[in-house]
Amino acid sequence: MAVKVKYLERPHLTNKERIFFIDFINGMKITIKNFFRKTITTAYPYEKLTPPKRFRGTHGHRVKDGKEPPSFKVLEKFLEINEGESRCVACYMCQQACPVPELFKIEAEQLPNGKKRLKRFDMNLLNCMYCGLCTEACPVDCIIMTDEYETASYTRANCVIHLDDMVERAKDYDRRRYNEPDRIWIDDTERSKLWGQIKWSNN
Ligand code: SF4
Ligand code: SF4
Repeated sequence: MAVKVKYLERPHLTNKERIFFIDFINGMKITIKNFFRKTITTAYPYEKLTPPKRFRGTHGHRVKDGKEPPSFKVLEKFLEINEGESRCVACYMCQQACPVPELFKIEAEQLPNGKKRLKRFDMNLLNCMYCGLCTEACPVDCIIMTDEYETASYTRANCVIHLDDMVERAKDYDRRRYNEPDRIWIDDTERSKLWGQIKWSNN
């Protein structure tokens, strides 16, 4: 059976529109109006924006620092974790929640006293889609996503992040932003400076 192909019909232009290029002039009016508006793009990498707090950037790994959620107090009994050490309870929930679980390499060991201790926590970010499901699943707020987004690298090996890097990243992030309210935009003044009042073109 022959397949019918539908073509869009050419719009019918009046003689006035044909002679005076009305559509072209209307298009240019919009171009000229926007040409003089404040630029909303940034000249990256010379100019860098701070992403909102809930931005899903490179992962960080929190340590035991007294700011753990109540669930940590319960789980801590089964672990050997000193102040300043990773607060990971090696529950593998992050790995279970991840659409690409192979990217995690988490290992824990059992100590002679019967308690568990984290030995290894690596992530291969080449396979990460930055969905944030791992952070949602963590019962002790250990794995987090920070505002760091410059992760390009010349080697694949550099895309594998290790516990120590992640701990430092989380410390830096928390130092700068822990007390900041969780909101989509950095701050109302900054937001309006960047974007102003949104006006829909057909209003
Ligand atoms: S952000 Fe998503 S893809 Fe990346 S490690 Fe977490 S769960 Fe996996
Ligand atoms: S979910 Fe949290 S506590 Fe559990 S293994 Fe992952 S980082 Fe560690």
